[in-house]
Amino acid sequence: MVIILKENAPAVEVQALEQYLEAFDLQIKETVGEHMSILGLIGDTTAVDIDTLLTFPCVEDVRRIQEPYKAVNKKFHPEPTVVEVAPGIKIGGGNFQVIAGPCSVETEEQIIEVAEDVKKSGATMLRGGAFKPRTSPYSFQGLRANGLELLEEAKKATGMPIVTEIMSAAHLPLFKNVDVIQVGARNMQNFELLKALGKQEKPILLKRGLANTIEEWLMSAEYIMSEGNPNIILCERGIRTFETATRNTLDLSAIPVLKEKTHLPVIVDPSHATGVRQYVEPLAIAAAAIGADGLIIEVHNDPQKALCDGAQSLTPEQFDNTMKKIKKMRNFVTTELN
Ligand code: PEP
Ligand code: MN
Repeated sequence: MVIILKENAPAVEVQALEQYLEAFDLQIKETVGEHMSILGLIGDTTAVDIDTLLTFPCVEDVRRIQEPYKAVNKKFHPEPTVVEVAPGIKIGGGNFQVIAGPCSVETEEQIIEVAEDVKKSGATMLRGGAFKPRTSPYSFQGLRANGLELLEEAKKATGMPIVTEIMSAAHLPLFKNVDVIQVGARNMQNFELLKALGKQEKPILLKRGLANTIEEWLMSAEYIMSEGNPNIILCERGIRTFETATRNTLDLSAIPVLKEKTHLPVIVDPSHATGVRQYVEPLAIAAAAIGADGLIIEVHNDPQKALCDGAQSLTPEQFDNTMKKIKKMRNFVTTELN
């Protein structure tokens, strides 16, 4: 349920309303917007009588929320959430960022070289997997804790914030110098992991599961936010369909759908969505055109020798060209399409 407050409602009146609501054992989330302030009520609101609420002088309107997700619902928080990853690096609410780097961290030289290259091309965050969720236990599993150390070296060398995947809540202490913790597609519904990530403050990049609906994905974000962490970035990375020409099918429709349903920023991963290098650029441009808040793109300095996902990795030169086109599209979107 959301209670829309009258503009400039006196604080004493709002306090009186909040005191009345205390009897119902609900979580109350107050959102103060530029034009509208809202009290969002989470929990069983069946005993709350709308007509009684409307008698409070500070109440403009009351609406019941049908969707099962509350805290991430746009009706609870009409202004877009802006996640500040590092000073000056914001995502959402008109702020667009590109995250780039290899699928996996392999060596110190590799990660620093790629970091320097992608930074020159305009990427503002560095990606690189240290703990890798591989389909086969015989495939390269990542450098694990050592990979995180190498990412920190690359961060020191370039100043770029680092984005990397967590596979177990037990590893959280190792992530203390990581700027954005990624939850991979395979862990989107690992609810214990989501709860643990909700109890800390670092931004979470929550990828969509391989075969999950938008509502299930938003419920996973709700798990994180209901524990107290509002810093969530959603990432559409393609879903399983009958199509085999691409690794997954990029659900571009998810972007406008999410823009309507949630206040959280949404980025697109055209690398895992397609699995094919030459399709990454057109889908990256399409994502920028359709209103995504950013992109995450795999780049490797020697894709043929990459230990993971070489076929979908761009070379630094290809990434540089792609970035030029992304910038043009962003420019067009913000100037001509607005
Ligand atoms: C990744 O980003 O390296 C990754 C494994 O992605 P996903 O979880 O989307 O498959
Ligand atoms: Mn990958």
